Amino acid sequence: MTNENEIVKKAKYCLNCSTKPCSSGCPLGNDTAGFIALAKEQKYEEAYKLLCKTTVLPALCGKICPHSKQCQGSCVRRFKGEPVEIGEIEAYIGKLAIENNWSINDEPITKSNKKVAIIGGGPAGLTCAAFLAIHGINVTIYEKHNYLGGLLVHGIPDFRLDKNLVNKTIEKIIKLGIEVKLNQELGKNISLKNLKENYDAIYLSFGANIHGNMNIDGENLDGVVGGNEYLEQNITLPLSGKIAIVSGGGNVAMDVSRTLKRQGAEKVYVVYRRSENEMPAERKEIEDAKFEGVDFLFQHNIVQINGKDKVESIELIKTNLVQKECDSRLSPVNIEGSNYTILADYVFMAIGSNAEKSLTSSLGLELNKYGNIIINENCETSDPKVFAGGDLSTFKKTGTVAWAARSGREASEHILNYLGI
Ligand SMILES: Cc1cc2nc3c(=O)[nH]c(=O)nc-3n(C[C@H](O)[C@H](O)[C@H](O)COP(=O)(O)OP(=O)(O)OC[C@H]3O[C@@H](n4cnc5c(N)ncnc54)[C@H](O)[C@@H]3O)c2cc1C
Ligand code: SF4
Repeated sequence: MTNENEIVKKAKYCLNCSTKPCSSGCPLGNDTAGFIALAKEQKYEEAYKLLCKTTVLPALCGKICPHSKQCQGSCVRRFKGEPVEIGEIEAYIGKLAIENNWSINDEPITKSNKKVAIIGGGPAGLTCAAFLAIHGINVTIYEKHNYLGGLLVHGIPDFRLDKNLVNKTIEKIIKLGIEVKLNQELGKNISLKNLKENYDAIYLSFGANIHGNMNIDGENLDGVVGGNEYLEQNITLPLSGKIAIVSGGGNVAMDVSRTLKRQGAEKVYVVYRRSENEMPAERKEIEDAKFEGVDFLFQHNIVQINGKDKVESIELIKTNLVQKECDSRLSPVNIEGSNYTILADYVFMAIGSNAEKSLTSSLGLELNKYGNIIINENCETSDPKVFAGGDLSTFKKTGTVAWAARSGREASEHILNYLGI
């Protein structure tokens, strides 16, 4: 962890410019220039209190937000050099808050008699719960696992995010007076109908962690594994001496490939259809994966997976990148006749994730074609008593912790409005 002198130096590098584009770049709209100005003067507790107006996850977001695409990507300093290291400063303040037991909220809470059930205790659910509890609502989180945190725990691997920090952050949130019911799974031992009878409003935030498919031959063979499920279920495979292929170019692909290397796979190839520059994963994650010995096959598509009962090889085809009118990004086009085959023992799918369709379609709510729950600008589903957010929903943007947290915070405001508070 960066020491205090370095943090003050990093904070002083901030120009405190008048337009504050970093704040607009942050999904949560954190007052970045404001908390950095306080950090410059070493007023860390005040900086933390300012952060708490918009977020309850500063220690975590500071660590794992894709900064170059969010706050730091909008920093004015970036045009003539390096951006202010906003994430580092935020993480430092968040860690101090944990070490010093600073509370999220100092205002007296006026308790109401309203009850809200939150389904899923990931970033969206935890944030919604926190902002509702601060406003006196009786909140209960129902979580299918025997722990809270969602992908903060079972997605992002330990080597990128310290789980002690996650647990301490969650403890702080729960201390706001939130009730937690673990091992409670919507669609199994709890039903939406029952929740609706017992609560004044429901917030659905059970995530979207089912891997996407490529729809190619061989996808059903033994040895084809969903990247999301591999991490969530902590699946252990005999990897020693094996060749693993990871299909995809985002953070999930990077986390899966690095985990595979660490678990002893002989060779790990990431197959990505565009070039390295177009990869959605953070640059640092790509560099770290390379450093750990992961190989990349850029501008390649997997055509099919071969094998009798289990994966034995994959057929690849090279791609050219062309500019299409309908797409701002370069599009991959297969180069005819460039096919070749390489040996493989496993293929991991990391090409996007969706909500669990069997669950979402059983709820009687309006869904989009991917099975995600449609919400309006008030975070309401097609059922007026049921709100939704985070990765499972059609919120403005999804796929990062800060966006999930933003959707949770916004939903809390609309739920309060709905409850007349
Ligand atoms: C491998 C990986 C790496 C990532 N890396 C980053 C990163 O570096 N930075 C970043 O910003 N984002 C990253 N993301 C994305 C980020 O983690 C998600 O966008 C975010 O966690 C979504 O929050 P959520 O609350 O919507 O869902 P989740 O975090 O998935 O939480 C949903 C919760 O609901 C619970 N649940 C599921 N089904 C049920 C049910 N039926 N009943 C009750 N509870 C249920 C789950 O157990 C979980 O606790 C990563 C994602 C993955 C998969
Ligand atoms: S929440 Fe993430 S994007 Fe927002 S200021 Fe913090 S590190 Fe940047």
